[in-house]
Amino acid sequence: MNLKDTPQQARLRQEIRAWIAAAVPTELLGQQEWLAMPLTTSTLADELAGRPEYEPLLDALDGQGWLAPAWPREHGGAAFSAEEQFVFDEEWLRAGLPPFRTDGLEKVGPTLIALGTPEQQARFLEPTRRRRIVWAQGYSEPGAGSDLASLALRAEPKPGGYRLNGQKAWTSNAHRADWLYVLARTDPAARPRHAGISLFLADARSAGITVRPIVAIDGYHHLNQTLFENVFVPEAQLVGGLNQGWKAANFLLGYERFSHPSAMPVYHDHALAALKRDARAMPGEGGPDGTGGSRWDDPGLQRSVARLEMDTDCLRYARYRAQTRFVRRGEPGPESSIFKLYGGALMQRIVETHHELTGPRGMAWDAQPFGPESQQLARRSARVRAYSISGGTQQIQRNVIAQRILGLPGQ
Ligand SMILES: Cc1cc2nc3c(=O)[nH]c(=O)nc-3n(C[C@H](O)[C@H](O)[C@H](O)COP(=O)(O)OP(=O)(O)OC[C@H]3O[C@@H](n4cnc5c(N)ncnc54)[C@H](O)[C@@H]3O)c2cc1C
Repeated sequence: MNLKDTPQQARLRQEIRAWIAAAVPTELLGQQEWLAMPLTTSTLADELAGRPEYEPLLDALDGQGWLAPAWPREHGGAAFSAEEQFVFDEEWLRAGLPPFRTDGLEKVGPTLIALGTPEQQARFLEPTRRRRIVWAQGYSEPGAGSDLASLALRAEPKPGGYRLNGQKAWTSNAHRADWLYVLARTDPAARPRHAGISLFLADARSAGITVRPIVAIDGYHHLNQTLFENVFVPEAQLVGGLNQGWKAANFLLGYERFSHPSAMPVYHDHALAALKRDARAMPGEGGPDGTGGSRWDDPGLQRSVARLEMDTDCLRYARYRAQTRFVRRGEPGPESSIFKLYGGALMQRIVETHHELTGPRGMAWDAQPFGPESQQLARRSARVRAYSISGGTQQIQRNVIAQRILGLPGQ
């Protein structure tokens, strides 16, 4: 891959940089907290919903076609190639602006553009792009996470549509969602099992849907158990054809792994910057004369940070390689699993090092006596544990790498 911009990309980069400088109020720039505190799309949606000052900016961005830059122009996007989108993301995050792509922009939209009917596109794309629809993903079930093809939520044909019965687990954001995209079993006898699965769009307010909260280890309520009892879904809300849900599910998952915060080195850069900033601000161990400098003077800590920085560079280059494949193929491939696995483990190591540095200050669960920043550190330490699981567990990523990249025999 050529790491230098082509003249066209350089022009686009300048255009985006100039637009950000002109259109973004200065007080919103350089908010590195967004990046030092990597968020899942669901926690991000919560954070952004609580910050109305970003709304006009996101509307202005939409006016440029940059809210969903990879979408075709007829659907309000900018028809960016994958390379152009990377340029956009780099400039946006470099300015310290919040990563704003929700499930709708990042996953549901591209899926409907690729597989939806013209009616579904006309009905859902515009409000999804304008962030008027909050989407939640109903894939996992109590007995079907890694082995998603064993899902049991049943969709039975009825006049005009389907009736859904069963339950979904770990549904991020279902309590805030307007719509759910749900994988359901439409042919229990089909072999292989994934040939009997379909993808539906279900109105979250349909009669028969019950959402029960699950408070995660980080103290936030972003996960839910979602129950379906005789929920009617019209035929027009079946996506990609009957028993074709597996293709749609994999299409979506490729994007999820590619854009997972653990896979993007910019988050690691900022988490490392926050670690170093805190180390410099903390008094050192103290010499005999009481002038101990700062904790950053500790050569052991500096060695650990140097190692983490080198590993972040490795992640950056692994990502460039995957981007090249993405650009050639037009969609993310199994390489997404490499940096989802490596990036997640690396972020956990950075956060653990930060946690060791801050000691009790990084365990202040209720912000007392150290203040809200410490509370954020404690919650972040808990949150990054989920990076080993969400978007496919680390073991599953290893299986994908072994079988689909290294060509090793399957189980
Ligand atoms: C923060 C968070 C948000 C989530 N959001 C959503 C969401 O919005 N929508 C949704 O549908 N799901 C969501 N999930 C669920 C997530 O996709 C599943 O938790 C994940 O796929 C693992 O499934 P499981 O929890 O059932 O674990 P299991 O599949 O039961 O796995 C248990 C353990 O066995 C290991 N294992 C299983 N199979 C194999 C194998 N073949 N080889 C080696 N090891 C194996 C796993 O790696 C794991 O360690 C979320 C999860 C988290 C943590």
